[in-house]
Amino acid sequence: MMLGRFAAAAIFLAATMSDLCAAADQRFLVLDGSWVKWGAPKWGAGASVTFAFAASPVKSPSARNCSALLPFDELAKRTGFPGQRLHDEAEAAFAAWARVSGVTFVETHAADRADIVIGVEGNPMGRAFTNVELESSPIGEAAPATERGLTAILEPRSLQGQPYGIRSIRKALICLNALQKWKIGFDGNLNVYDVRYTLMHEIGHAIGLDHPGATGALMGFRYDEKQSGPVKSDSDAAQRLYGVQTAK
Ligand SMILES: [Zn+2]
Repeated sequence: MMLGRFAAAAIFLAATMSDLCAAADQRFLVLDGSWVKWGAPKWGAGASVTFAFAASPVKSPSARNCSALLPFDELAKRTGFPGQRLHDEAEAAFAAWARVSGVTFVETHAADRADIVIGVEGNPMGRAFTNVELESSPIGEAAPATERGLTAILEPRSLQGQPYGIRSIRKALICLNALQKWKIGFDGNLNVYDVRYTLMHEIGHAIGLDHPGATGALMGFRYDEKQSGPVKSDSDAAQRLYGVQTAK
């Protein structure tokens, strides 16, 4: 029953896959019929999320994406960028979301216990993927609905009436394909992705956001260099999930 116990999202940033992505025009991820977020399964409730860079291989057999994660430092070996510089880019990517929403990120060195783990794809494909795993209570299990986070208390106005609740995310994995070319910073060449931009996009998925469309937002599924961080629609979506930042 392993498959029934986990919900995973197959999400990626790749213009070549736009046909697949184009159908997902909502701003929020829906897994197993529910919106998903870290922390309390309530709209606008902030959350503290830990993240770690994989320092050794991480196997996640139940994951649809990133099931074999290699250490993040493989990216430094492949790209030639200093490892510290890549760490800095990743940390800046987390900070970009923390600045605009009530989600806080805390780095930890214990990848096995971290909420979000970043690494390199063990089975290289595409550019980057995010795997989101929900709390493992099966939907059919006899437990109060509120404990499973199936009851949305305050739904966003535009989504009222839809039969979705919110469930809590248990773990997220983000993996980059180290065999692709990568860059730090924008240069107008849309065939080579910027590390920070890509991680900001994938972190957006890892906190419960989906593609609002192709372009015009960090969460747009097409890589472009028209925004250097979350734009208003990205921030608005993150704030629906986590509220606004408090005293940071
Ligand atoms: Zn995406």
